[in-house]
Amino acid sequence: MTPGSFEYHRPQSVDEAVALLGQYGDEGKVLAGGHSLVPMMKLRLAAPSHLIDINGIDDLKGIAEDGGEIVIGAGTTQAEVLASDLLAESCPILPEAAALIADPQVRNCGTVGGNCANGDPGNDYPAIMIALGASYTLRSADGERQVVAADFYEGVYATAIEDNELMIAVRIPTHADGAGMSYRKIKRKVGDYAIAAAAVTLSMDGGKCASATVALTNVADTAVLSAAAADALVGSAVDDKAIDAAAEKAMADSDPAEDLRGPVEYRRAMAGEMTRRAIREALARAGGS
Ligand SMILES: Cc1cc2nc3c(=O)[nH]c(=O)nc-3n(C[C@H](O)[C@H](O)[C@H](O)COP(=O)(O)OP(=O)(O)OC[C@H]3O[C@@H](n4cnc5c(N)ncnc54)[C@H](O)[C@@H]3O)c2cc1C
Repeated sequence: MTPGSFEYHRPQSVDEAVALLGQYGDEGKVLAGGHSLVPMMKLRLAAPSHLIDINGIDDLKGIAEDGGEIVIGAGTTQAEVLASDLLAESCPILPEAAALIADPQVRNCGTVGGNCANGDPGNDYPAIMIALGASYTLRSADGERQVVAADFYEGVYATAIEDNELMIAVRIPTHADGAGMSYRKIKRKVGDYAIAAAAVTLSMDGGKCASATVALTNVADTAVLSAAAADALVGSAVDDKAIDAAAEKAMADSDPAEDLRGPVEYRRAMAGEMTRRAIREALARAGGS
């Protein structure tokens, strides 16, 4: 199928893009990499009258450290994340997850902002951003606000972003507590979305887990923050018993649908197994055994 007709805009600055979004409201749509939006337009599941292409805006690109945070411009591609020395050093879970997204063609165009703003529970970065305690910078003609990733996702393709807002950047606190982090994903084949995946961060102090976060991909209508799974780890030695308890809690917080990726029981079990594997890897990286 071909998309419906639309007017194409290519702003050169954030101010210009934001003005267009304010002008066209729910008739306008941001075009970033296009790898989620264009298929939706072809299926007529999205039919914007005005397409606002942000690929010409240099200010939306780049990865930098800024006062205890890593700031990733919303227009930064997944390929650029994969190639970033700064992220490999300070937040390896992001390039590692980028390598698990689709294929090089998709990663060369697909952006961090598009992946986070899209609201598809199959996207990998939302759960990771939730686990990392990231926040999203949203700008409209009225000003700028920060929304914590854990508060951003409301349902399938439903998020806290308003029609007149542009996602400018993702801000991630640097984990000064020496936290280990891991993202484990099971998929049917290269280029596919997750059957289930888990993002884990954890820090150790005196042989005990001092802090932990656990978040899940594609096992509910949105990415899931499993506070109960994290609680099962904090204060423990992260031994097999605690890891199993956390995996059970993650499974209980999962509510997957049966689809081509498997029946409900299988996908829930995979949420548990990915949680187990991600905890073990994060533990090793945090200096535990
Ligand atoms: C074959 C294939 C396999 C894929 N596999 C995976 C996978 O395994 N894991 C995964 O995570 N993703 C996967 N994807 C999706 C891919 O990562 C997309 O690139 C991503 O979901 C959307 O990013 P984009 O830059 O292409 O955004 P677009 O498609 O351009 O936009 C997506 C949505 O976000 C909005 N948007 C984009 N940028 C902004 C912004 N800055 N501010 C406000 N709104 C914005 C758009 O209006 C649109 O509603 C796959 C895609 C394909 C085609």
